[in-house]
Amino acid sequence: VEGLCKEYGNGDSLQQVLKEVSFSLNKSKFCVLLGPSGSGKSTLLNIIGGIDTADCGTIQIGNTVLETMDDKHLTQYRRKYVGYVFQMYHLIPNLTVTENIETGAYIADDPLDVRELIQILGLWDHRDKFPNQLSGGQQQRVSIGRAIVKNPSLLLCDEPTGALDYHTSKEILALIETINARYGNTILMVTHNEAICPMADHIVHLHDGQIRSDTVNHEKVTAAELEW
Ligand code: ATP
Ligand code: MG
Repeated sequence: VEGLCKEYGNGDSLQQVLKEVSFSLNKSKFCVLLGPSGSGKSTLLNIIGGIDTADCGTIQIGNTVLETMDDKHLTQYRRKYVGYVFQMYHLIPNLTVTENIETGAYIADDPLDVRELIQILGLWDHRDKFPNQLSGGQQQRVSIGRAIVKNPSLLLCDEPTGALDYHTSKEILALIETINARYGNTILMVTHNEAICPMADHIVHLHDGQIRSDTVNHEKVTAAELEW
């Protein structure tokens, strides 16, 4: 990410949400993005995910510059390359756990084995249930499964534990850790919780649309070892 800018509004209501944001992320690493409410985290994630556009700056993935992709390649990037997990689960109510996860696989060239994934997600005994028969933590596991089943190179998570209690949040973090180790997806996760930082490879702090700090963590701990 190089020199990214984003403005909303115009005239007196012009707001610079991202001000020359630059950072880089290594493949297969787990990066945490922190910052106060309104600092531009979701905006940054959405631009990286190809669902919003910047006013200036570039995003380069390997040798490809996102801004130079034609519509066809941008669609492919969004659908195949990027997986998204949100604070709210957005599951389809009349599909089972297995079917909800399978909706994420249909566009994939080489989807993961759904049965194996359901086991990794800890949902085997719940696989035939509908979303309203699951707890919040279980629903978030399903939404992670749906994002990951296409085996995206990049997994973007916007406060995935924001609606969950302490214990369930830790379980979801442990799951994200397992997925990162098992499938090697690069993960960029927005969180409000500073206590999560020790389990990340890379920590970026955003403040008022600018990078305040950008740190590589050489002493990573597991989700189970986190204390907060
Ligand atoms: P939170 O932690 O509360 O989710 P955030 O860091 O994700 O906050 P953003 O959602 O990126 O913050 O929003 C940053 C700023 O940009 C906010 O002031 C917001 O009001 C503004 N903003 C975001 N999207 C739009 C939009 N579509 N139109 C106008 N302003 C927007
Ligand atoms: Mg946000």
